Amino acid sequence: MTEEKIVKDDLIVAMEYSLTVDGEVIDSSEGREPLEFLQGKGNIIPGLEREMLGMKIGESKDVTVKPEDGYGIADETAFMEIPTNQFPENIPMEVGIELQVQNEEGQPAYARIEEIENNIALLNFNHPLAGKELLFAVKVIDIREASEEELAHGHVHHEGHEH
Ligand code: ZN
Repeated sequence: MTEEKIVKDDLIVAMEYSLTVDGEVIDSSEGREPLEFLQGKGNIIPGLEREMLGMKIGESKDVTVKPEDGYGIADETAFMEIPTNQFPENIPMEVGIELQVQNEEGQPAYARIEEIENNIALLNFNHPLAGKELLFAVKVIDIREASEEELAHGHVHHEGHEH
């Protein structure tokens, strides 16, 4: 008799999922291959990874992930006001536009234009999902052993894909 496969650390899990935020489905594996990840290596957000443990093939689950176990709590100080005339001309000055910028240490950072008033753009450096509760609907499609290489790298290798 073979032991029934359940999700454990260091196994590769294939799952179908959908992610709902503020009542809207913002991401889903529908129409695509199931998402494969290596359990226990932080390949998926912590609040979901924890809930996957012990799931069986074919099992479905709804998981609510609090902001602190998801994309973090929105940082009230992660905003910056910049006059619109200081942006390169090819960047449209519209609310919702996402930009790659440099932070104070010269590292690349992403920011979103949150508001424009009196020719001043308010940039928001928070992740778009920071502060949001995430509702995942997941279904485990397959569970398999990870190869030594996958374990060493800490992520899934797909066929014909080496790095
Ligand atoms: Zn790799």
